[in-house]
Amino acid sequence: MRIAIASGKGGTGKTSISVLLAKYLSFESGQEVDFLDCDCEAPNGHIFFQVHLTPLKTVNIFTPKVDTSKCTFCGKCSEICRFNAITVLGNKVAMTFPELCHGCYGCFRVCESGAIKEDPRRIGKVYAGRHEDGATRIHLVQGVLRIGEAMSPPLIKAVLEEGEASSNLVAVTDCPPGTSCPVVTSIKGADLVVIVAESSPFGLHDAAILTKVVRRLGLTFAIVANKVLDENTLIHEWCAKEGYRYLGGIPFSPDFSMEYARGGDIFKAAKRMPEIEEVLCRITKMVQER
Ligand code: SF4
Ligand code: SF4
Repeated sequence: MRIAIASGKGGTGKTSISVLLAKYLSFESGQEVDFLDCDCEAPNGHIFFQVHLTPLKTVNIFTPKVDTSKCTFCGKCSEICRFNAITVLGNKVAMTFPELCHGCYGCFRVCESGAIKEDPRRIGKVYAGRHEDGATRIHLVQGVLRIGEAMSPPLIKAVLEEGEASSNLVAVTDCPPGTSCPVVTSIKGADLVVIVAESSPFGLHDAAILTKVVRRLGLTFAIVANKVLDENTLIHEWCAKEGYRYLGGIPFSPDFSMEYARGGDIFKAAKRMPEIEEVLCRITKMVQER
């Protein structure tokens, strides 16, 4: 059972809810829970669990290298590449742009001259560690994208594979923010997607886009409103209008935000907010219903 915590934009409180949910599920079940940090550009779940991480593996992707002694400059590789990562100029030059390459092997497959060789590109590393505090146990897996690298989906897949290989029954995925390929990779195959929507017009706009993505993928989802100000029912009313399952609103708390910003004890801060436990409890019930 994998629960993906996603948000249409950054800064909604997605990581806080992921971390709190993993801990809550472990406490309630008495079992170890996988925490899969797929926010590979800025993974920070380990800060709150205070996990010592060790490297598990390096992730590389295919990048083409043209052997000009074999190349006929037919241009087929350039034609098939949707990302303009390989180009042929006249009958002398075949250039590659590794930073644009998605590692799809398209050029490799269409090249009839065997002129394309593999030039592996390191995109990042997967780390893992364990947190245990007597009442809860978390197995944390994290992807860290190499600085300057933009291609996170293969690294996210590697993190998810570690989760699949784990013997734990429940996994919480902290997804990257937004609605593009890294998010799609992170939520694909999840049993439940919890969309954390910041209670603001911007938050609503981006949550609405993410909801379209999740529906397109045919995934079960529910919405949580975060950073709710007094009498602000924006997200709740939107869910009611659209017929989306609403799991509750968490009020904006400067106390909680301060604790988060300094990487402090957000579990203690959360205890002072009953709305958080209500939301976690509703997510758990939804998981049990499935
Ligand atoms: S498909 Fe192969 S032979 Fe044709 S231009 Fe590309 S590398 Fe050269
Ligand atoms: S592997 Fe795919 S993305 Fe990369 S250069 Fe070849 S066709 Fe383009």
